[in-house]
Amino acid sequence: MSNESNTMEKIVALCKRRGFIFQSSEIYGGIGGFWDYGPLGVELKRNIKDAWWREMVTGHDDTSVPLGAPSAFDMVGLESTIIMHPQVWKASGHLDLFYDLFVDCKTCKARFRADQVESSECPRRPSKRPGAHDECELTEPREFNTMFKTYVGALLDPTAEVYLRPETAQGMFVNFKNVLSTSRVKVPFGIAQIGKSFRNEITPRNFTFRSREFEQMEMEFFCPPESSEAWYAYWRDRRVEWYVSLGLKSEKLHLREHGPNERAHYSCGTADIEYAYPFLPKGQFGELEGISHRGDFDLRSHIEGKLIRNGDELVVERDEDGQARHAGSGKDLSYFDDATGRKVVPHVIEPAGGIGRTALALLCEAYDEDAIPDEKGVPQERIVLRLHPRIAPVKAAVFPLVKKDGQPEVAARMYRDLKKRWNVFYDEKGSIGKRYRRQDESGTPFCITVDHQTLEDETVTLRDRDTTRQTRVRIADLESTLAEKLQS
Ligand code: ATP
Repeated sequence: MSNESNTMEKIVALCKRRGFIFQSSEIYGGIGGFWDYGPLGVELKRNIKDAWWREMVTGHDDTSVPLGAPSAFDMVGLESTIIMHPQVWKASGHLDLFYDLFVDCKTCKARFRADQVESSECPRRPSKRPGAHDECELTEPREFNTMFKTYVGALLDPTAEVYLRPETAQGMFVNFKNVLSTSRVKVPFGIAQIGKSFRNEITPRNFTFRSREFEQMEMEFFCPPESSEAWYAYWRDRRVEWYVSLGLKSEKLHLREHGPNERAHYSCGTADIEYAYPFLPKGQFGELEGISHRGDFDLRSHIEGKLIRNGDELVVERDEDGQARHAGSGKDLSYFDDATGRKVVPHVIEPAGGIGRTALALLCEAYDEDAIPDEKGVPQERIVLRLHPRIAPVKAAVFPLVKKDGQPEVAARMYRDLKKRWNVFYDEKGSIGKRYRRQDESGTPFCITVDHQTLEDETVTLRDRDTTRQTRVRIADLESTLAEKLQS
């Protein structure tokens, strides 16, 4: 990794230059907290999503006990809607509790998150901490619900108000019974979902880290209460391993167990998988994924109504008339436990991660600068993205060394063959050094070059992005060699 303090600026510049990430609506000056993923960014995200879906759903073997798991289990996927019945967010507690505290500056008319005042900047010049200028006056902290509100139908009145989901999880809770009764799954089982979520963050910042529109990968694991602690430990450790398998191998990745005072009131255990993003001060980490033991809070909320803590118990919050403040569905969301012969509301373990934050951590981890000799042997500085081949947007680039002597035809034929299996790129313009350099910056693990010798002995050079070493490979062996190196 590069040690320079301006690494984040360089990564942001690279993301723009190579087409990973653009500011949304940039030609109109952009819009805070919204980001577009360009041609390489969309492939990177797609690879992360595919890896997660394979890890969680399609690759899951429900006939054997995975290492460290208390038992075998079932796993299925779901795609629920972004806009749901508004009662979902009332019963779940989001309407009352999904807020951030903010302070306004009465002079500057700027708004800051109350917990970030110390690390924010006043818009006045010279820039200072909010409230630090003599004429600035900050308000007391106030609540701001971060759910985006909109309307369904033609009437813009309160009865038509709905919300863009701030998490995908509620889709799994409200579909628990549907899945249980239609998919032949039995508790313990998980429902996984990938999808967009929206939060009207007061101060979106740090590039894509805190966005207002982002994608989540969440799984709700329904298990018997007695084994929930063991399942929590299993998922917590397994999720860390997944990030390591994608290439987050350095000490910048760590797992942090929350103390009892830091947890949500219903949580029986929470751990965050965190990464030391370069925009954070040294020694600080940002959340990549949270793994939470949610007990029976969510399903009971959707049965009985919004729950609050009363001592050791979760009880329905009631109004002056004794009615549930936010009613649940009243539906039976329990399962029949064969072992005890009783109906039980399962406990839930939730690993909830963000695709944008994963992509950003992978880009930060992969960013490197080194020096490699050019065609004349003179060392030249280069920027290289050492992305794991599994998630690299382009798996290989195919070049003819020169644009003549039949080389482009051979290279194009090879490109078309490889394209059937992988995302491969063809380029015949510019010096070979520049073409290699461009692929290094894009994170392409391999470059294949057709040269004079190819036309004599049917071999090509295969260049490794990380070492820049080139080996000769027979065209006939190219696909199998690449498959082995790409592990796909
Ligand atoms: P934070 O404390 O950083 O706001 P959170 O604890 O509110 O995050 P969760 O509600 O646990 O986040 O959401 C699960 C995951 O969704 C997070 O670990 C993160 O990867 C992603 N996520 C949450 N909020 C955002 C956001 N504003 N922008 C990008 N990703 C987000």
